[in-house]
Amino acid sequence: MAECAFCKIVKPEDEFYMYSETKMTRGRIQKGYVCEHCSNSIYGDKWYPITGYDQVCEISKLGTVREIREDRYYNITHTRNASVSYVYLTKNDKKMKKHIQSLMKRFIYTGQ
Ligand SMILES: [Zn+2]
Repeated sequence: MAECAFCKIVKPEDEFYMYSETKMTRGRIQKGYVCEHCSNSIYGDKWYPITGYDQVCEISKLGTVREIREDRYYNITHTRNASVSYVYLTKNDKKMKKHIQSLMKRFIYTGQ
């Protein structure tokens, strides 16, 4: 069982909507869970594909990036403070730091 990071609802791990994995010190990985209701209201419910990278990712209008892995959504957004968020995307095995603002411009506000 696991609990939603926001509403604290408790249910089986497989029934959550969004997952996260945060690397802690000494190699420990902290797992996070968010239910669909909280995800929609906090991260947004409309997602746009991010193309051109090795991962399969989507970005929301509220500035969250999720990666789709093994049929699960993982929130991979790093937030330093309220105004600076970024993600690491890989292209041809090269890891790149991408600012959320520029990804939003590229994948949400052009051509849609
Ligand atoms: Zn919740």
